[in-house]
Amino acid sequence: MKTRLGFVSNSSSSSFFIVGTGNQDIVQVLWNRAGPARKRGCDHPEVDTKYCGQCGEPMWIEDEGNGLCQGGFTDDKSGLSFYGSDEPNYVGIDAAQLFKNGSSYDHIISLFVNACKKAKVDVKERDIDIHYGEAGNG
Ligand SMILES: [Zn+2]
Repeated sequence: MKTRLGFVSNSSSSSFFIVGTGNQDIVQVLWNRAGPARKRGCDHPEVDTKYCGQCGEPMWIEDEGNGLCQGGFTDDKSGLSFYGSDEPNYVGIDAAQLFKNGSSYDHIISLFVNACKKAKVDVKERDIDIHYGEAGNG
């Protein structure tokens, strides 16, 4: 784990402030479903080959490295954000702007729980917390 707490100014890292989890089992499952390396290349049924047998498109869009650009990655579809360095350490909902706009902690928790449900991941409330710091190769 290379995630650092505190704030530094470095262009290859991202500061983050999320309501989510650092439970590695949950992070990994969500990363596999919503992370950049698992984005579908086409909509045909998934097969265990690199290219689709029906249309020839890549089955999955390949990604350089682990796909964590400057320590963070947000999946626009699910709204889930991932932060880490060598691998994602945290997943959650970016919360700073939501708090500024008046959202409650409970509301942001519900956003995270619903995003997990859509990804068919059962997350317990005891696993959810505020996580913040600096992620990346700073
Ligand atoms: Zn296809």
